[in-house]
Amino acid sequence: MADLAESTAKLQLDEETGEMVSKGELKKRMKKREKAALVAKAKEAAAAAGNGGDDKKAKPPKPKEKPEEPTVVDPNNMFKVGFLDEVFKIRPMKPVFTRFPPEPNGFLHIGHAKAIAVNFGFARYHGGHCYLRYDDTNPEAEKQIYFDAILEMVEWLGFKPYKITHSSDYFQRLYDHAEKLIQLGKGYVCHCNEAEIKAQRGGEKGVGGPRFRCAHAEQSVEENLKKFRDMRDGVYRPQEAFLRMKQEYVHYCAVGMYRFAGGD
Ligand SMILES: [Zn+2]
Repeated sequence: MADLAESTAKLQLDEETGEMVSKGELKKRMKKREKAALVAKAKEAAAAAGNGGDDKKAKPPKPKEKPEEPTVVDPNNMFKVGFLDEVFKIRPMKPVFTRFPPEPNGFLHIGHAKAIAVNFGFARYHGGHCYLRYDDTNPEAEKQIYFDAILEMVEWLGFKPYKITHSSDYFQRLYDHAEKLIQLGKGYVCHCNEAEIKAQRGGEKGVGGPRFRCAHAEQSVEENLKKFRDMRDGVYRPQEAFLRMKQEYVHYCAVGMYRFAGGD
């Protein structure tokens, strides 16, 4: 009993585990913990420096070694130099409003991440706002799951839309603008098929021959207006007619601007 009391008296309390251990053991444990604390601290510093705090790479700092330069990535750098800096300098307007206008007909891909970073980031950098505008003008291809996923991705990348809008809210305005373009002689209804359009654009890859306008470009404003209203009223099947922009055709060759979706 005396032996036990004596040996117990020599033991010391390990405050962390609540165990009674020998002085030597406690010393060993304390050293181990000290080292672990250093490792944790180094990890924290690495994470703060932005390199992710990789478990395997994080080591306690060795005083004699020169500390590695932390890689700090500034996400705003692209707005401070180069093209996006120039853009703002050319037109330094405040407040800055931008928009990210995806079509809700699929999931976003890595290219959209760039568009999100530029549009939302540019506005945020300049203290402005960015709209999320769903370009929902083709109901046949759209699904609610895509609307939800797009917003989720924007938020996952750390941004919050100033307002969420839908192109479909502006159908009437888009239609009115289209009629106005026709009245100005800047748009015409074309019935060419894909192969004909390709030929007008210079053939395969645009290098097969000279560019030219189709005969539909010569229609009168009245004829175009009538045809365009027929398009709206479902007289044509979806691929039978579309509105083309009447522009300088050697370089641009009349891009399509307006189609009506729908069944037969
Ligand atoms: Zn045509």
